[in-house]
Amino acid sequence: MKYVSTRGEAPAVGFLDAVLSGLAPDGGLYVPETWPQFSAEKLASFAGRPYAEVAAAVISAFADGELSEDVIAEVCAEAYASFAHDAVTPLRQLAPGRFLLELFHGPTLAFKDVAMQLLARLYDHALGEAGRTMTIVCATSGDTGGAAVEAFRGRRNVRIVAMFPDGRISPVQRRFMTTVTDDNVRTLSVAGDFDDCQAILKGLFQDAQFAHAVDLSAVNSINFARIAAQAVYYFVAAAALGAPHRPVSFVIPTGNFGDAFAGYVASRMGLPIERMVVATNSNDIVARAVEEGRYAKGEGMATQSPAMDIQVASNFERLYFEGVARNGVETGRAFRAFAASGAIDLPPAARAEIARLFRGVAVDEAETSRTILATLNATGALVDPHTAVALAGANRVGPVKPTTPVVVLSTAHPAKFPEAVYAAAGVTPAAPPVVQTQAGLPERFDSIAADAEAVKTYVRDFVKA
Ligand SMILES: *Cc1c(COP(=O)(O)O)cnc(C)c1O
Repeated sequence: MKYVSTRGEAPAVGFLDAVLSGLAPDGGLYVPETWPQFSAEKLASFAGRPYAEVAAAVISAFADGELSEDVIAEVCAEAYASFAHDAVTPLRQLAPGRFLLELFHGPTLAFKDVAMQLLARLYDHALGEAGRTMTIVCATSGDTGGAAVEAFRGRRNVRIVAMFPDGRISPVQRRFMTTVTDDNVRTLSVAGDFDDCQAILKGLFQDAQFAHAVDLSAVNSINFARIAAQAVYYFVAAAALGAPHRPVSFVIPTGNFGDAFAGYVASRMGLPIERMVVATNSNDIVARAVEEGRYAKGEGMATQSPAMDIQVASNFERLYFEGVARNGVETGRAFRAFAASGAIDLPPAARAEIARLFRGVAVDEAETSRTILATLNATGALVDPHTAVALAGANRVGPVKPTTPVVVLSTAHPAKFPEAVYAAAGVTPAAPPVVQTQAGLPERFDSIAADAEAVKTYVRDFVKA
């Protein structure tokens, strides 16, 4: 299986090259040349199987011979052994026909662990064989950084720099990065917001000389392996609820559109997903794009669901590419125009492709808080603000058919956002042991201006050291 760029001007590469390089050299995102297909029998066979086995089936469809089945099985088994729940991503029923898909049982208590634990082991394998050491620079809106640091710390073939927006993430999120003492980890507090961090990261890649000199890699959700790893729980959850014989709807708390795109991928691979509701907070670029057909940056706002405080949803480019029948030239033109002007209109065909599956909902701060309280009162479940955004989305847009089960993705443990949960519900979530431990540890990080040149100098010095 070859991977092509959404902008159509980069050579096709194999799975491991697509994974290790993250962004394509023409500025586009890698997608497989064709979507692998799972038969109805295969989909049905996922019901009741161990999570790691379903993950292995999905990853091998994408790796397509580049990794042996044994290696894939081992990597998946190890990755998901790090989770605190035997089911890895258990379903919790909230009401008839409504379920929470708990994605926060990994080591840093957010769904980012699901992909990152697997990705780190894929890197280990690919780099170890090639005798290569890469530098991962990661821009985080809160959870990616902690998950990446936890997954890559102490690994021999990788050093990692995690950039977070100063003051925009919760203390628990920050400590997952700053309390780590491994030599291959550095954490940077950037004087800016997440979009600044993401723009710096893009700038590092655009400097080909720099990228080559430090052997730069990205593990943000532009990395296709993360998308593939996240597609797994759509299969697992849907099979548990009767797919492929019964369709399922999903509601996804959305920022960078990685998680939602993973659901789209599962649907393209044959999973009968009836509807996907993308729920954003007040940073609603994706909700507006889906509902109104115009992808336009708004004013960035700090919210109680900081992992979704995003105005540029990188993965939306992948959906656009599908929407214009995989026309790379058209996609490149559109996203260069977006970078220059901050707004593009979706062509009618792309709008239609998106509307076939997606609906968009934006949820403000008051509704998020109300939903945390109402969910606790009605079901006994204490949810984090990101999950609450999705639950509010589910309240507003139901499934197409009333009998279709609705699965709401629960992306973070409430103990990651104790202040917001307390403010909404008057209850402090019980802190898992890892949160109690990190609270007593010293923090280590450096501060830096929101400037790509400053970050390049910092990374170069780290590589030399
Ligand atoms: C990253 C994140 C999201 C948003 O996921 P995307 O793939 O960026 O859309 C939602 N909730 C939490 C808790 C997250 O960490």
